[in-house]
Amino acid sequence: MRFTDIIEKKRDGFALTREEIHFWIKNYVDGIIPDYQVSALCMAIYFNGMNEDEIAWLCDEMLHSGEVIDLSEIKGIKADKHSTGGVGDKTSLSLAPMVASCGLKIAKMSGRGLGHTGGTLDKMESIEGLSVEIEAEQFIKQVNEIGISIIGQTQSLVPADKKLYGLRDVTATVNSIPLIATSIMSKKLSSGSDAILLDVKFGEGAFMKTPEEAEELARTMISIGKKLNKDTRAMISNMNQPLGNAIGNALEVEEAIATLKDEGPADFKELCMHAGAIMLMQGNIASSEEEARAMLQENITNGKALQKLIEMVEWQGGNIEQVKNPSLLPKAKMKIEMKAKQAGYVKELNALELGTLAMLIGAGRRVKEDNVNHAVGIVLSKKDGDYVNENDVLAVVHTDTELTQEWIDKFYNCFIMSETAVEKSPLIYKVIE
Ligand code: URA
Repeated sequence: MRFTDIIEKKRDGFALTREEIHFWIKNYVDGIIPDYQVSALCMAIYFNGMNEDEIAWLCDEMLHSGEVIDLSEIKGIKADKHSTGGVGDKTSLSLAPMVASCGLKIAKMSGRGLGHTGGTLDKMESIEGLSVEIEAEQFIKQVNEIGISIIGQTQSLVPADKKLYGLRDVTATVNSIPLIATSIMSKKLSSGSDAILLDVKFGEGAFMKTPEEAEELARTMISIGKKLNKDTRAMISNMNQPLGNAIGNALEVEEAIATLKDEGPADFKELCMHAGAIMLMQGNIASSEEEARAMLQENITNGKALQKLIEMVEWQGGNIEQVKNPSLLPKAKMKIEMKAKQAGYVKELNALELGTLAMLIGAGRRVKEDNVNHAVGIVLSKKDGDYVNENDVLAVVHTDTELTQEWIDKFYNCFIMSETAVEKSPLIYKVIE
């Protein structure tokens, strides 16, 4: 088999066989096929797509390019949730303890932030001493004992994705539904859960710009999951503005803790309740959405959901005093109030740009090697649909460095205002099974 023939076949719009896909992934991971040839194939896939079989085979080959975690020692249904990435998305930090407190087993592997999107691991590491690098044996023990653990992905999972994603990032081939779907699902499937809930975001701050594109990605991932006998469902949710109010690591941890006390922003709580209800049904813990929501609300009200987060932090070596008293979390040197220059309704908020601005003051990474500053970020006081008087605070910027005029100008450009009232756009567009 010659790799040039495979590139040519895809370039001309034909479907690849299972053997050809196996040849590609095996030889690429083994360093036999060079990056430049795989770049050409990814570009051909970007333009010509892949059919359902090709996608399932590619995912399976990627999945088996490395270690696959065996969670069979954990009793009960193990569930996982994956978000395609957004700004202010701290969902796992509230949702995982909420559902674990109701008896669902959460054995979750998360990632770090890059560019305008944050990562759960960076947020968790805002808590002093908390470790996300835990051996498989200890991870399984923790989930068996307390029902929850969130850790980083080990290097040995899906090496094919590590190489491919790095290559796609620099060859303008990230935004291809077959390539995104196989990248996400190979990682989710390698970490061994029985049920997967996908939160597929659309909008300015997401990979998929429209709900229709997000739905296509969701359906592609569900079809992969079903082929591999995993209960896979998806929510399509709006990322046209940041989720909740806080953007930045410790600030998001604080908001997640507030949500577990029922004191968080309504949009964020609703996303967690909706996702939690689906997950409890996937885990056969609740038989209807109403029942599931009632269980989740009860455990927020009686403090069990927050207690579950405290237990997880304690097991992973973190300082639980910071969870009990979030004012002990890392704090930035300055808090700068950004005041509205004019009255009006907030029509749109540019989530992508706000995520980038938070990254620029240190909350995120420009490149993989950057360190994050856990303390800094932006806390919004106004979101879409809100009325703003002149001089009202739009947001508070938590920063260790002075803001440049360019940063400030870009910040104000994120708020698109209207003189007439605007409706809030719905957060959850659709649920797909
Ligand atoms: N997230 C992933 O893990 N992979 C992609 O291709 C895109 C988003």
